[in-house]
Amino acid sequence: MQDHVLVVGAGLAGATAARILAESNLRVIVVERRKHVGGNCYDYTDENGITVHLYGPHIFHTNSREVWNFVNRFCEFRYYQHRVLSFVEGRFVPFPINRDTICEVFGVNIGVEEVEDFLKDEVRRSNFNDPPKNFRDVVVSQVGERLYELFFKNYTIKQWNRDPEELSPDVAKRIPVRYGRDDRYFSDRYQGIPARGYTHLVERILDHPKISIVTNMDYFELRDHVKPKLTVYTGELDRFFDCVYGKLEYRSLRLVFKTYDMEYYQPVAVVNYPNDYDWTRITEFKHMTGERSSRTTVLFEYPSAEGEPFYVVLTRDNIERREKYMEEVKKLEKSGEYIFVGRLAEYLYYNMDQVIEASIRKVGEWLKNRTG
Ligand code: FAD
Ligand code: UDP
Repeated sequence: MQDHVLVVGAGLAGATAARILAESNLRVIVVERRKHVGGNCYDYTDENGITVHLYGPHIFHTNSREVWNFVNRFCEFRYYQHRVLSFVEGRFVPFPINRDTICEVFGVNIGVEEVEDFLKDEVRRSNFNDPPKNFRDVVVSQVGERLYELFFKNYTIKQWNRDPEELSPDVAKRIPVRYGRDDRYFSDRYQGIPARGYTHLVERILDHPKISIVTNMDYFELRDHVKPKLTVYTGELDRFFDCVYGKLEYRSLRLVFKTYDMEYYQPVAVVNYPNDYDWTRITEFKHMTGERSSRTTVLFEYPSAEGEPFYVVLTRDNIERREKYMEEVKKLEKSGEYIFVGRLAEYLYYNMDQVIEASIRKVGEWLKNRTG
């Protein structure tokens, strides 16, 4: 084992690291506690022949040419631009907020050149901390209280079970506000869905003669018995350190799949439900994959405190606790024997491309230091 690298977790962070290390002529063993590779972007074909994402809808989007080139080495991407509608006051309106959302909600007919002034008026009538200190402040400072209450407040309480004023401004910065009519969820340069699915993509990344994979195996059952040259850890940050600084909070989802005997259930891939019902959103996968079938499978997401760790919860307590753990991480990484990378291991609200980017960078730095 001494001449091996051990990668903990076969999600995108682990797979990317494993691949780069293997291509640098190192022997890599990947251990994964689940029974499959792919991490949270794992997908499979259900009994109706529809590709579904077991842990929630995943759309690949990035502005990084390096990341885009990396993933395109392993699979083709299907052209797909993600569009989301929000169900408010009994109708579907475009989300993120753009000119058309405003016209529908307020019953006005304004040109795109008037949107900025319209929103400035809304903001002027609202109360918030300037500069913004939390999730609510960021949103209200952009669109005002009325739109905040309609689209953000209740969704956020449902998703996080927190007052939006307790959440970091960074959570709100994920959602743009558009003055024009662009109704895409993401405006990144590169977007798409792996043509043969995310599981296939991760399997291809891991498909290298120097990589071995062991599934159904928890790292903590073997860590006292092995001494690898390098450990790349992509699991929960606090668990690695036996929660010495206290537990970090993760948010989960109860995911309910339903199949309907109809060609399409809803007009777009994702509909958000900020104010009605207990679920946050419904995803209809066929819109993403382009699959044809007389039936359709949809997914209802119910936020939950229990279950698989899907989301980091960016409150002040958790961020401060993270800092303490990251001091320990720095020491371990300095020794050259560990790399911590990924959404769970860095406790960051990463998208898939950010995970790949971080993995490429961190492994690259490690390889550079090794060769001097
Ligand atoms: P993970 O995918 O969590 O992989 C970590 C792996 O390590 C897991 O398989 C886990 O089982 C394993 N592991 C952990 N601990 C151990 C251990 N002790 N021993 C062995 N194995 C272990 N990103 C986007 O870019 N676009 C999207 O549209 C998008 N939608 C999302 C929707 C949902 C509902 C969720 C939850 C996430 C979404 N993401 C999206 C984010 C995306 O899932 C993550 O950025 C990415 O998958 C994280 O990869 P990772 O390898 O860091 O972590
Ligand atoms: N959000 C909201 N209303 C929406 C969509 C998102 O208030 O209709 C807020 C909510 O707090 C959510 C955050 O913005 O958790 C980030 O949304 P995103 O769609 O990026 O969430 P993810 O896809 O990561 O679940």
